[in-house]
Amino acid sequence: NPNKGKDEPFILPPNVTSAQFSKFLKRCREICGVENVKVIEAEEQLVDGSYYEPNKTHDMHHLVDRNYFVCSATISPREVPEVQDMMRLCNEFEVPVWPVSIGRNTGYGGAAPRVPGSIVLELGKHMNRVLEVNAEDAYALVEPGVTFFALHEYLEKNNLKDKVWIDVPDLGGGSVLGNTIERGVGYTPYGDHWMMHCGMEVVLPTGELIRTGMGAMPNSRDDVNGIRPDEQKPNRAWQLFNYGFGPYNDGIFSQSSLGIVVKMGIWLMPNPGGYQAYMITIPTDKDLKTAVDIIRPLRTQMILQNVPTLRSILMDAAVAHPRSHFLKEDRPFTNAELDQICKDLDLGRWNFYGALYGPQPVRDVLWSTIKQAFSVIPGAKFYFPEDRNEPFSVLKTRSLTLQGVPTFDELRWVDWLPNGSHLFFSPIAKVSGDDAMLQYSVTLKRCLEAGVDFIGDFVIGMREMHHIVCITFNKKDPESKRRAHWLIETLIKDCAEYGWGEYRTHLAVMDQVALTYDFNDNAQMKLNEQIKDALDPKGILAPGKNGVWPKNYNKEEWRI
Ligand code: ADP
Repeated sequence: NPNKGKDEPFILPPNVTSAQFSKFLKRCREICGVENVKVIEAEEQLVDGSYYEPNKTHDMHHLVDRNYFVCSATISPREVPEVQDMMRLCNEFEVPVWPVSIGRNTGYGGAAPRVPGSIVLELGKHMNRVLEVNAEDAYALVEPGVTFFALHEYLEKNNLKDKVWIDVPDLGGGSVLGNTIERGVGYTPYGDHWMMHCGMEVVLPTGELIRTGMGAMPNSRDDVNGIRPDEQKPNRAWQLFNYGFGPYNDGIFSQSSLGIVVKMGIWLMPNPGGYQAYMITIPTDKDLKTAVDIIRPLRTQMILQNVPTLRSILMDAAVAHPRSHFLKEDRPFTNAELDQICKDLDLGRWNFYGALYGPQPVRDVLWSTIKQAFSVIPGAKFYFPEDRNEPFSVLKTRSLTLQGVPTFDELRWVDWLPNGSHLFFSPIAKVSGDDAMLQYSVTLKRCLEAGVDFIGDFVIGMREMHHIVCITFNKKDPESKRRAHWLIETLIKDCAEYGWGEYRTHLAVMDQVALTYDFNDNAQMKLNEQIKDALDPKGILAPGKNGVWPKNYNKEEWRI
């Protein structure tokens, strides 16, 4: 590569010359250290990697041209003041910054920036301390680089598991902080991560450092004198009371481009003193309706204590085997074939996974109530993990996940197709049988049209369902990518007609999803843009994230 060593990236940030970029890099090296600045000079440096070794440069599951969502350099600050200095520098040179904590963000764009040529600020590499676990008050304070695995390991090493549990998503390699601010979910009673966060420390686009909630008040006047703000002893109630005084700011730092979160508190679940995971199989497709109507009151009454899931048969089948094991031809499964798979795997067309928490008498009462409610479904069967003997038992994996033990097992379904890649389509629905059936039929129809297998589940929150449709594709086959892209765009459009919006989305369709939230002539987007321009006048922090573009970008031109 003739550019090697010349500080010439393969993709420059918009409106930045290579001479300016070279000066910029020199200053980055002064701030973060030479070893923490990596320029992406050539296409050969774009290595997809794997979940275990995620890249920090582009989307591993590239839905569009792999070379589009690509950064110019990855930079890893070592501490908070370096993040602040980087923000000041990026303002000076008008270089866009895309912060990531770990950069896995699988199914939503990985570490890739929305604007090609942005620098990726990789926070998790050095800033990865568990700052505190308080077992008495059941919370943790973490930096961006703490993964679910790392936090779990910390509890084990410090003999804290008998006191507190964490909540984990399907895969444990992501950042606790990154996942939470993106409003990711897990499956214990503490599954809504954002609901369970408490207190944040944030670097604003201008480089200013703030603490939200009770953190805005120093712990005592003695803890301030001469101590750098990010190292000052936090207020004792920072992780105990979310709101502090005055406007509650945390929301504007979630799924946003308004700040870089460098510390976050998260509530932990006190060890419930007993635990039992279970599965209920629902034999027919049409009984999805009955199941969801059974679930709603049980969930709002908290008889279903955790965030349970209703998984379609192919999701569990994909954990067991790749597609080719079940069907050699490239055509959709017939109903009869799906029923046969259920028979072979001893599962239902839908399978419900939950858990009971508490001492035995408590669990017994809950279990008998749940069992009785589901028994109206003809042929429903009830299992505990020890009842299942298949080599890859989803129930056994869920039994770990639902007690906050992270695993990698769910990665298996990604290999449903060769060169397995995926993205998620994730609309929100009311917990009702009719809504579930309608959303299922609307999405299934388009999946069949696109020749994509329906692999999905309903994740039951407090009063809504995250319906997660896993769109799998072969990233080395342009036709397979095209179909996946068409499918997600069509699903976003179709679902918006029914008033169903997504809770989170992939980089390539952020604009489209944002435009579906258009009540009263896009009034909310206008507010978001006003806030963006006020806090980030040069528009350097994550421009375009979640469809919010700063004024110095022509948003129509940037749409994919
Ligand atoms: P994961 O935890 O799955 O590895 P990432 O670290 O990739 O997730 O974060 C997902 C997304 O969340 C990023 O692309 C970015 O938009 C946002 N994000 C992550 N960490 C931060 C942070 N510390 N401050 C602000 N935004 C962040």
